[in-house]
Amino acid sequence: MDDAIAGLAERAAALDDVAPLAGARDAFDLPDGLVYLDGNSLGALPRAVPAAVADAVTRQWGRDLVASWNTADWWGAPTRVGDAVGALVGSGPGQVVVGESTSVQLYKAYLAAAAARPGRRVVVTDPASFPTDLYVLGAAARRADLEVVLAPPPSVPGVLAQRPGQVALVALSHVDYRTGELWDLPGLTAAAHDAGALALWDLCHSAGVLDVGLDAHGVDLAVGCGYKYLSGGPGAPGYLHVARSLQPAFENPLAGWHGHAAPFAFAPEYAPAEGIARARTGTPPVLSLLALEAALTVFDGVAVADVRARSLSLTGFAIACLDALVPELELATPREEHRRGAQLSLHSPHAYGVVQALAARGVVGDFREPDLVRLGFAPLYLSHADVLAAVGALRAVLDADEHLDPVHALHNPVT
Ligand SMILES: *Cc1c(COP(=O)(O)O)cnc(C)c1O
Repeated sequence: MDDAIAGLAERAAALDDVAPLAGARDAFDLPDGLVYLDGNSLGALPRAVPAAVADAVTRQWGRDLVASWNTADWWGAPTRVGDAVGALVGSGPGQVVVGESTSVQLYKAYLAAAAARPGRRVVVTDPASFPTDLYVLGAAARRADLEVVLAPPPSVPGVLAQRPGQVALVALSHVDYRTGELWDLPGLTAAAHDAGALALWDLCHSAGVLDVGLDAHGVDLAVGCGYKYLSGGPGAPGYLHVARSLQPAFENPLAGWHGHAAPFAFAPEYAPAEGIARARTGTPPVLSLLALEAALTVFDGVAVADVRARSLSLTGFAIACLDALVPELELATPREEHRRGAQLSLHSPHAYGVVQALAARGVVGDFREPDLVRLGFAPLYLSHADVLAAVGALRAVLDADEHLDPVHALHNPVT
């Protein structure tokens, strides 16, 4: 075992020498000695955020008050920050708006998609989707009299063939939040389009770590949250991408005054703004939007392809460490590079206790029902040495038998 660890330590050092973006960690404020493997739940704090939030509070709000809607362009923040998010997911300017939570953005997207495909009543989605995606779809389907068909992503083309002319929308997550499996966005988007349906992708676990290519693959609609790999902080607003070609037909089911063509005319009748602004609803959470905007500066000058290369190097090395040191735990994540996002999940009958014992040793991951230890590898602030330290801690936890209590709290943090 000691020989194996020494060999892996050499490999970690060599990989840390050659992997891109080695200096990116300096942009984050993380506690010393902590190995943080939960950036897929709440991203680490970027150093640029505290000063930006302090300025927004003390100067913009405290001194300039209501004038800041213009002087600090608070009004333009949802689309300005939207363009910054868009740049990370391959969506050109004028197609992304940031404002409400992902759950609310999903509600808008589902109903707008159904309205844009009149005569088609079926929405196809993955039964293993994150629960809020399913709950909100259920609520939208009851409102709009839609039929929800559940199919794992590989079965979606089959459903499209069985229901010709009936499917309005294929709604899927790019990366499975539980297993970390990466689905075929280009292929499934093309299959939806061939069947005359729209494609909606949830990017919660891919924005900031994967080359998503929304425009390149013609994705119609996408949503995601700002607080995971984008590091926008707790409660950071979510985003909605509406492809330019779909914008004229995009009917906002939460048509509020910020999406009006002339919001300050205060007209009694609704008239949608041109372009992506029609996807806005009401007054956005400005402080959180500005925190997210500052957080996104960690990506300035960073190529998404390099982020993905570093991410694959980290997860690939993690798999090698797990195979060598913890062979008894089965990987729930596919081993092939093109089938995994930036997280690895492991089956363990004592998963909850393992996660607690790891945290006590300074390695923060999380537990997911029913038996998963979930480890997220945010590429910008983790090194290969961190990966080896985490797997070494996992080995120590399993050897120490300190994890055998399977009881877990009900209020386990979500996402
Ligand atoms: C994190 C996550 C959400 C969270 O939605 P909120 O509205 O921000 O609570 C939704 N969907 C997926 C797939 C997620 O991973």
